[in-house]
Amino acid sequence: MPAVLILVINCGSSSVKLALFQQNDPTPVATGVIDRIGSEFIEGCYRVGEGPRQKLECPPNGDHAAALDAALNAFRAEPALKDLTVTAVGHRVVHGGQYFSAPVLVDDDVIAKIRSLAPLAPVHAIPNALGIESAIRLFPGVPQVVVFDTAFHQSITPEVYRYAIPDDLYQGHQIRRYGFHGTSHAYVAEEAARSLGLDFENCRLISAHLGNGCSATAVLNGKSVDTSMGLTPLEGLVMGTRSGNVDPNLHNFLAKEAGLSLEEITDLLNRKSGLAGLSGISNDLRVLTEKYLAGNQAAKLAIDVFCFRLAREIAALTIALKGMPEALIFTGGIGENSCLVRGLVLSHLTAFGFELDPARNEAAGSESGGVVTVQDSNGPTAIVIPTNEEFAIARATAGLC
Ligand code: AMP
Repeated sequence: MPAVLILVINCGSSSVKLALFQQNDPTPVATGVIDRIGSEFIEGCYRVGEGPRQKLECPPNGDHAAALDAALNAFRAEPALKDLTVTAVGHRVVHGGQYFSAPVLVDDDVIAKIRSLAPLAPVHAIPNALGIESAIRLFPGVPQVVVFDTAFHQSITPEVYRYAIPDDLYQGHQIRRYGFHGTSHAYVAEEAARSLGLDFENCRLISAHLGNGCSATAVLNGKSVDTSMGLTPLEGLVMGTRSGNVDPNLHNFLAKEAGLSLEEITDLLNRKSGLAGLSGISNDLRVLTEKYLAGNQAAKLAIDVFCFRLAREIAALTIALKGMPEALIFTGGIGENSCLVRGLVLSHLTAFGFELDPARNEAAGSESGGVVTVQDSNGPTAIVIPTNEEFAIARATAGLC
């Protein structure tokens, strides 16, 4: 067993995802996921290397700590991981508010600040803190690092992050745009620069992270300068089940005209909108693509809106770049795998000089990415870069230990 093993933990409200890395190796040694934590239906699975997916025995009604314990026991029962020693733990935390602009080593103050951000991240802050506290108990004396989804965007300036609402709401409640998916945007932007021979500290990039959640970010000279998500991950692009931007008066309209409560409107915009709401079919782009290709008009409308709105956001992000992007990066489940979406988005951006190469677009995917624009084109490059947020967290963790 190698000397340095970094455990990456991603604690959701009722799930835990784990990945175990050797230092500097982007392929995890083992991964695990446990769902429905706290219920009698708790279930999990794990995988060692490229081996088969195996069932994870979890105690019914177990909490986050019990789930972590069960996964680690399963790892340790594997011959390849018998002498497993975790030398550092990296935690994914969704919201760092205005406190954190980089990964930090955990102490009591860090945990207290994460908990204090619960009003800004109601679903995630407390489970994130619970995950850290559980890991401290399970790995006494082992350094723990937190990597925040918001941190990369802390370089954004007030003219970009402030909403035009009364100042006391910002001063009293920290209401501003924060941005999310920062770990992914930073990772793919740096990888794209390396792959294209650009100097990361001196180039203009736009990255589009397109999964179930979607956001796009302008990266100027290695720093985030604008991003599509805001106070919460609902703002910006059309997503799987999230609406993205709507008229702010929609709440008022839905309350008065459709008789919906605040909770119902929040649920509608977060869980019943986006691709799922527009199509009435599914939030899964694979399902919608099949229907689209078979001529289904509802699936076509959903994908067309998704792509148009993304193209419009990309165009808007160039303002913060102060010039044309040198490269546009596609990542996430949709960005890496959907040549249909990439082609439609670039078809809206021909004024920017993007020249799609259909064969390269077909060939690019989540295995190894690839450029999708014409070789030697005078326009900007569009490139697929597979994201690897867990490895980015492991690398940041190693960097602080
Ligand atoms: P993520 O949240 O990054 O796992 O991405 C989930 C989204 O990626 C879902 O909408 C999936 O339908 C989409 N996706 C995954 N694989 C493919 C594929 N081969 N083609 C099109 N969409 C895909």
